[in-house]
Amino acid sequence: MAEESNSRVSTPEEAVARIAYLASDVIVSVQPSLASDSEFSTHLKRFAGRKDASLVAITSDAVPEILSVRHNTDPLLSVFSPIRSGRLVSVTTTSSTLLPSIAHLYTLANLPVVLHVALSPRNSPDYSAITSIRNSGWTFLQSQSLQEAQDIALTAHALAIRSGKGVIHFFDPASASRSTPIVAEDPAVVREILNLDNVRRFQSAPISGSTIYVSDGRVPVVADQPERLTNRANGAPSTEAEVASLNGTSHLSSKSSQISGTSSPSSVSVATTIEPAAPAITSEDIYKYATSTWATLNELVGRQYKAFEWTGSAKAENAVFVFGADATLFTEAIASAQSGDAFAGAGVITARLYRPWLGATLIETIPKSVKKVAVLEQVLRKTTRWGPLLIDVLTSVKSGPGGIETIVGNQLGYVTKTTVRQTLKAVFENLVSEKPVQNLEVGEKEQPQQTPEYGLEKPKLETAYIKILDQLFGDRVYIANSLDADNAGISNTISASPEYGFGALLARKERRQKFVGEIKETAGSGQFLTEAPKRALAQWVANADDVKKAEEAADNAISKLDIDHSSTSMGLLENKQFFRKQSLWLVGSDAWAYDLGNSGVHHVLASGENVNMLIIDSTPYSERAAADANRRKKDIGLYAMNFGNAYVASTAVYSSYTQVLQAMAEADKFNGPSIVLAYLPYFGEHDSPLTVLQETKQAVDIGYWPLYRWNPDNENKGKPNFSLDSERIKKELKEFLDRDNQLTQMMRKEPVYGPVLSEDFGTEIRAQQKRKAKDAYNQLLEGLFGAPLTILYASDNGNATSVAKRLGTRGRARGLKTTVMAMEDYPVEDLPIEENIVFVTSTAGQGEFPQNGKPLWDAIKDSTELDLASVNFAVMSLGDSHYWPRKEDKIYYNKPGKDLDRVLSNFGAKRLCDVGLGDDQDPDGYQTGYNEWEPKLWEALGVANVDGLPDEPPPITNEDIKLASNYLRGTIVEGLNDTSTGAISAEDSQLTKFHGTYMQDDRDIRDERKAQGLEPAYSFMIRCRLPGGVSTPKQWIQMDDISNELGNETMKLTTRQTFQFHGIVKAKLKPAMQAINRALMTTIAACGDVNRNVMCSPLPSQSKYHREVYACSQKISDHLLPSTTAYHEIWLTDDNDKKTLIAGDAVQDFEPLYGPTYLPRKFKISIGIPPHNDVDVYAHDIGLIAIKGEDGHLAGFNLLAGGGMGATHNNKKTYPQVGRMLGFVKTAEVHIACEKVMLVQRDFGDRKNRKHARLKYTIDDMGVDVFRSRVEDLWGQKFEATKPFHFDSNIDTFGWTKDETGLNHFTFFIENGRIEDTPEFQMKTGLREIAKVLKGEFRLSPNQHLIVSNVKDGDLPELKSLMAKYKLDNIQFSGLRLSSSACVAFPTCGLAMAESERYLPVLISKLESCLEENGLRQDSIVMRMTGCPNGCARPWLAEIAFVGKAFGAYNMYLGGGYHGQRLNKLYRSSIKEEEILEIMKPMLKRYALEREEGEHFGDWTIRAGIIKATTEGRDFHEGVAEEESDEE
Ligand code: SF4
Repeated sequence: MAEESNSRVSTPEEAVARIAYLASDVIVSVQPSLASDSEFSTHLKRFAGRKDASLVAITSDAVPEILSVRHNTDPLLSVFSPIRSGRLVSVTTTSSTLLPSIAHLYTLANLPVVLHVALSPRNSPDYSAITSIRNSGWTFLQSQSLQEAQDIALTAHALAIRSGKGVIHFFDPASASRSTPIVAEDPAVVREILNLDNVRRFQSAPISGSTIYVSDGRVPVVADQPERLTNRANGAPSTEAEVASLNGTSHLSSKSSQISGTSSPSSVSVATTIEPAAPAITSEDIYKYATSTWATLNELVGRQYKAFEWTGSAKAENAVFVFGADATLFTEAIASAQSGDAFAGAGVITARLYRPWLGATLIETIPKSVKKVAVLEQVLRKTTRWGPLLIDVLTSVKSGPGGIETIVGNQLGYVTKTTVRQTLKAVFENLVSEKPVQNLEVGEKEQPQQTPEYGLEKPKLETAYIKILDQLFGDRVYIANSLDADNAGISNTISASPEYGFGALLARKERRQKFVGEIKETAGSGQFLTEAPKRALAQWVANADDVKKAEEAADNAISKLDIDHSSTSMGLLENKQFFRKQSLWLVGSDAWAYDLGNSGVHHVLASGENVNMLIIDSTPYSERAAADANRRKKDIGLYAMNFGNAYVASTAVYSSYTQVLQAMAEADKFNGPSIVLAYLPYFGEHDSPLTVLQETKQAVDIGYWPLYRWNPDNENKGKPNFSLDSERIKKELKEFLDRDNQLTQMMRKEPVYGPVLSEDFGTEIRAQQKRKAKDAYNQLLEGLFGAPLTILYASDNGNATSVAKRLGTRGRARGLKTTVMAMEDYPVEDLPIEENIVFVTSTAGQGEFPQNGKPLWDAIKDSTELDLASVNFAVMSLGDSHYWPRKEDKIYYNKPGKDLDRVLSNFGAKRLCDVGLGDDQDPDGYQTGYNEWEPKLWEALGVANVDGLPDEPPPITNEDIKLASNYLRGTIVEGLNDTSTGAISAEDSQLTKFHGTYMQDDRDIRDERKAQGLEPAYSFMIRCRLPGGVSTPKQWIQMDDISNELGNETMKLTTRQTFQFHGIVKAKLKPAMQAINRALMTTIAACGDVNRNVMCSPLPSQSKYHREVYACSQKISDHLLPSTTAYHEIWLTDDNDKKTLIAGDAVQDFEPLYGPTYLPRKFKISIGIPPHNDVDVYAHDIGLIAIKGEDGHLAGFNLLAGGGMGATHNNKKTYPQVGRMLGFVKTAEVHIACEKVMLVQRDFGDRKNRKHARLKYTIDDMGVDVFRSRVEDLWGQKFEATKPFHFDSNIDTFGWTKDETGLNHFTFFIENGRIEDTPEFQMKTGLREIAKVLKGEFRLSPNQHLIVSNVKDGDLPELKSLMAKYKLDNIQFSGLRLSSSACVAFPTCGLAMAESERYLPVLISKLESCLEENGLRQDSIVMRMTGCPNGCARPWLAEIAFVGKAFGAYNMYLGGGYHGQRLNKLYRSSIKEEEILEIMKPMLKRYALEREEGEHFGDWTIRAGIIKATTEGRDFHEGVAEEESDEE
């Protein structure tokens, strides 16, 4: 163990944890919850954290495994698997887990497990936890001080290893803690005591058998090994013969029947050496091993231990046998007794070895002079008349003349230093009296305030579901076993139990029933002072069982009683909560799943009562296998559905919020037991919501945690009982439903589930798929001649795939039998039989294999037995030598390829040629290196010089796809109709962009689905076209409906002022498009190589002026819309008769503006209204700056052209650019001017290289003046001179504004534009409620926020109250947060390299305390983040920007202009959170100190010399703060 010698140990738990750590392979650490540590686990984790070595562990790093298990999830189940596999297991726990584990204790008794048990409750422990399991066959050792805890813990391990039997070491932690710190045991001593030979013998012989419920008949036997020789300083016997002779003394004749510690009969083992089979371990063996261990310990450290300890005079006549906390209190009190004290001169006996109970040894221990013994047992839950220890002593000791005359049992209460004398006095006066009373209760009954036991802390995360109950039922909800409820006089442990809760619910129901009866009686009586209550009460009684009607009638009845003032009224009002029909809930955890037959779940179901249970399961999906390996966690949902009479729902708040609401509401309505299972997976209390979200998604998606609702009432209505709310279900559930015919019924109703349900969770189809693919290739090859060549690729951006495919074609042309496949589809077992194999891989993340190469790479590198001696191989690797500019990161360059090359060669494979290194930085990119490598490969394969090679077809480009698409049709319709996949073809997915939709896949669950053999979770993003971001309230509600019914229940307000939906599966794509169309919106040209949504400053302060400018944005948008009728044809036609819903039948398409190939790249237009540059007017292909005329009306626009954000990391030929001024154009002409700019780009833009195709490059290549004149030529007019304007910010102004017409506007803070409900913040519901009453309009801001506009004064109160109700009026955020913006990135964006929307808020939270400290909380600093350099959130114009480089790593940029006028510049590459914070904190501090009046952060970073200013895009890469290291 890596610690200084003489280190000190302060608590018994620390001492015990350390010994357990040194002496185990696996430690099962029982904890209150996974989030809170136990007194043991803090130390265990500390040791493991610093990688201390165990003395016995067989792993190479020698660090034992620590398995944290919640106390209420059957912790001992976790012992079976490791102990059977020959690993030494110990458990650290409190005594509260022992009784519930009793069945396991019997089975584990014959395995060398050590249980270290801290007795509970702390401060006044109950020893009945020990006495009640004393006959379970274990060895029990007790320690009483800190030093003893360490020594006896060690003894326990030695004894378990030596005897092969389970040992329980128990101690009272509070009294042992009172000792002064001790020296930690020397590891050499520990090693000597443990005897490593014995350890290895156990570890090398795994135990067969798998069942944990039936004893497997294993009985530990005396091993054939010599006992250690000792000098027997403590007189302990050291040979079996001596033990036998000791046991043969007269005292023992009748004791063997009392040896309750072992299941095998006691035997005299001395003679067994001549028997062929080793004898079973006996009590005597245990005693022998224990005393021998103590003898060695005594030799090594000089401390002595015995099975029983006697303290006091050797001539004592009276004695106490203490079995309870702190025996030293008694010894000290007796030692300091005065002669008159009844207990003076008495002795104290304690048991060190409690089981097996060795009566003879006890007799040996007690001096012959002792005549009377008082037995003190601290057993709080007494179940038998006589205390268990009393019975032990009585049966061991022969009372009568010459021996002990009197033995008296006492029930010991709580004793302290101040009360111990009094207690002893009572004990001894009774003992010496003529007729002593048995079972005398001594000590105080009252115990000190208990710290709560395990499991009473409700993890904060779990409150999510409770909040939803509150949200749904408000005052009506009654949670019977809620932890914070005040259940007078009942301990938390009890009141939180399901049994108590159920009882409480029934009592609650009865009380209401009684109340209803009471009202019935009083309603007709004359006990009221007024008449009104009678009628109101009668009306209420008639509706008492109807939730809604009772609620309505209740208010009336209560108000009438309120004014009646009679004593009867007062009396009834005392119980007014019963006027409402409550929603009764019992909340529990998955701990109830382990023993369903006995749990509260069973009681509730069996009762048939109308109560609801909410059961929260928190086992993370990724740990389910570990957690469930040998455990019996049962499926509560199946159990309840099998019961037949219950409503059952399986929900997950982080998967579908609305489904939780629906399930809870249905459960409440159901007249009978309801069980709502709720998933909330977390590893620790402080997990970020992102972890919880990702775990949930995986579990739901794969079918491990399906979302469903089961309502037995449906049957009567002719509907299926079962409704599936997610896509995939697990096998067991499917079997159940099949049996019941439910699945067929449901699929008939919802055929969309058919294909996915055939791939339920748990079917192993992956291997079969691989095999099939391989076989198909083999068949194909049979007809070919020539040498075989297998080409495997791993690719994340498609380059490696195309290189591999092209190589395959070329190989085939050279007569080789070529196979090309993804690495992930290749079975590793086939590798040794390959003749020639080539790998083409690109480089992902920090030098990692792309996703589709990882599994095979892992299998290869982890293999120990691959023999590749007959395999020839070559590797081509694609990478970017500048991607990681720092010297220390150079190793990442082409790392996967280099690694693979080395490892294959290590396995004996022969290199065909050196690894090829393609570098994006080379003149022709990776092709440069590839062109050198390929000829070498053909050379090595002997096919370099082949004549008559056919011409290769050129690669298909986006331009080809557009051209061949027949005006954007492609095969989209066919793709949509193909139900065998959730995807559409690669070509079609380029085309759907023009229709406003992208195919994406959920990257959170990509790996898991791959592992399960499923295709990625494809879904579609739909982006609406909404010029200027103006939406009516009705449209808002329609959008909200679409997101709920067809999408993933959220909406994104984008940086281009429009609605974006995610998670729309293919089958719902067309319905979603039609719904958008019904809302009088469209999605055409929202993406793609066309003019996209035209933006316009929302300008809440000047509504009239806004109207004029906004009208221009609509005009430009309409003017530049593509003309193809494909959009209507594909999305808006009826499936049956092909009837066009909106437009007439398709005519011959013609695109007057675009032509058949549209634009070379996307095209964006925005309009800024000074002084607000919220649209970032410099960042678009066309930026229009609205100019007000002298008459106060819009006069026209200054037109900027050639701004753009997208760039590629490390590619200096790409850069962000700001728009260049072309001049002024009048309002009436603006759409034409825009058109002409677009047309010049159409004709002159680069259609060969998409990375160079944006307008910014066209203008830079052409020069601004030439470009302007081309536009003017086409237009036939000239730009006028630029008009003066002034911008002062590019962020939003939050809160209320009044415009020039007196109308009101409120800007909400919507963090990163995400509209969603969470249990904490029902923003989406709130906005919907607002939309229902709003008479004005919504405006989406370019910073992804939202404005309610045009609100009349008279409508303000209603609106304000709704805003307050839903907490939507909160704008009290830091200036940094209010000025922040992030793109979507993970999980849906396919280009994302790092998190953005889900991470920026977290990063800001980490910076806020620093802002606070430096007085910057209110200061606006524009900070933006994107997941990749595509730059959707316009990061290059922010004062601080983070652009994703790899997962968790960002490039940092500084120096952008505050109102979006200046680009920023690279400050640091590839930094992670820790470095970001290290950089940001001192920088913010400096800014606070050094800034000049009104100086913005971006300007200051330049003045302070931290970064150089970027004057325009072409010097974006010049003078960056971090120069690249040139060294290789
Ligand atoms: S910036 Fe990149 S990661 Fe973010 S949404 Fe745009 S393309 Fe995706």
